[in-house]
Amino acid sequence: MNDGPQAAAAVDLLTRALAAATAPHDRLPILLDLADRLAGIDARRALALAQEADALAERLENQPARAQALYLQGRCADLLLDHGSALDLYERALRAFEAARDDVAVARTLRAISFVHDALGDFSRALDYQFRALALDQRSGNEDSRAATLRTIGVVYSNSGDPAAGLDFYRRSLALCTSPADAVERGKTLNNIGINLKNLGQLDEARDALIEAHDAFAALGLPLQQAATLNNLGLVLQRRGMLAEAERTFREALALSEATGYRHGVAHASVSLGRLCLEQDRIDEARTLLGDALAACERHNLKTREYEVHEALAEFHDKIGDTARALAHFRRFHALERDVQSEAARDKLRALQIQFELSAARREAEIERERQEALTRANAELDALNISLTEANLQKTMLLDQLERQTYEDALTGLANRRRLDQRLADEFALALRHGRPLAVAMADLDRFKAVNDRYSHAVGDAALRATAKILASQVRHTDLVARFGGEEFVIVLVETDAEAALRVCEKLRAAIAHHNWGAIHPGLSLTISIGVSADTSLPSHDRMLAMADRNLYAAKAAGRNRVVG
Ligand code: GH3
Ligand code: MG
Ligand code: MG
Repeated sequence: MNDGPQAAAAVDLLTRALAAATAPHDRLPILLDLADRLAGIDARRALALAQEADALAERLENQPARAQALYLQGRCADLLLDHGSALDLYERALRAFEAARDDVAVARTLRAISFVHDALGDFSRALDYQFRALALDQRSGNEDSRAATLRTIGVVYSNSGDPAAGLDFYRRSLALCTSPADAVERGKTLNNIGINLKNLGQLDEARDALIEAHDAFAALGLPLQQAATLNNLGLVLQRRGMLAEAERTFREALALSEATGYRHGVAHASVSLGRLCLEQDRIDEARTLLGDALAACERHNLKTREYEVHEALAEFHDKIGDTARALAHFRRFHALERDVQSEAARDKLRALQIQFELSAARREAEIERERQEALTRANAELDALNISLTEANLQKTMLLDQLERQTYEDALTGLANRRRLDQRLADEFALALRHGRPLAVAMADLDRFKAVNDRYSHAVGDAALRATAKILASQVRHTDLVARFGGEEFVIVLVETDAEAALRVCEKLRAAIAHHNWGAIHPGLSLTISIGVSADTSLPSHDRMLAMADRNLYAAKAAGRNRVVG
């Protein structure tokens, strides 16, 4: 996409820099940057640049640059609708980024591969790649990447015809986009939310979301995204019967699209305006607008939009009583629709064949990667021996570690805090649903803990909480999560655990607390814990699972404490 004069100036500058650069290591970064900026404007030229970068990076044995060059070639192939090549290139980029342990780039590439499958209509495979990216984001703890993945999962769900699921993921993504640096991401997500709400018939909320998205893009000076949002907003207003406002909105979208040379936007706004005029029996205006829309689609080969225009023209001629023309447009509409679909089918076949060839190549790559890993390990050991690490660097790392810990850790016990719990549980819930795997969550609360503080002191209470944390964490699997929920309450997320197994684990936890040697903390001290469990993944959300565990905890307390209720 062309984001205006600034982007054009950058391209211009880089083109001149490239012409002046002759040494390979000077050319390489310029080629990559320019290919990246040009991809959305002129994919063919960008592809040629990325290919040159690829060859140079190979010659210079610059692996990170090679990975990036592969990724950019994939993106260009994708934009040129060459889905088979895009998959091949993205898969190679993926392996290169994995070898470089660049988690953010790996997640980005997984999302890109997902979108190719999405474009080919293979939503199940597309979601598999998205969830791989999400699991990685969760491991690496990169919030920006996680926000992006949650949004793209929403896109795939929406494209697969499940706007409600899409909406859910969009909202989770939005909740992570809170800093000013996330403004673009936020705008995109709000636009997507607007579209889904429209498709779900929640028109007022859709309008609010789209207006917010539009204002965000306007503030950022992104006219093209602004136009796309206005086109969506117009449709919502039209559906709500606010025809005059809809018309104003479409006209604004048209003007912005024309000013920025955004062809899809021009065609979209024209056909929408044409339909709006038709609805109001403004026949002459409808004729002109639909004619303009058709011309724009034909000139720029916008097939998916063109069949929509023929459908509108069929309605138009039907309305003015020209049955013969109406029929002709209707036929054209169907022929184009078939065209688009069979093109997608051909692409899909080709992509399948390439996937087959890829899996053979991947086995070889696996062996190569193991060799690389051994090399990396050897290098790491060498680095460990190298004690040239400066004091300042150490301190910086420690500060960063500390900050990271404070964000996600409970200070008293070192367990995960509520923020980490909420993220993990939400992700595990989505993964469990996706793969049809069981998941259990337990809420545990120490019995009559207030009396411990009152009788022995707050310091003893704190020591008891720390010991409880240790006991709980030592009794569950490495992949499970124990979090301090607050005060003397703990939550345990048991992955891949069904109800029966969860009750067994919790009984073990209960017994471990009851039989612990509390006298070592203070003579006479003894403690028990009550636990409520939920393993019902058919509940609508992870929060509801937690609420159910809480209800069961309450029941355990009511039944006399020191017990597990599931
Ligand atoms: P129940 O069996 O019904 O759970 O009784 P309880 O006394 O444990 O429940 P209640 O919720 O009334 O009291 C919880 C007490 O936990 C209140 C507070 O004194 C104590 N507590 C909460 N957080 C901390 C903490 O960080 N350190 C210490 N020492 N005590 C805490
Ligand atoms: Mg309590
Ligand atoms: Mg308690």
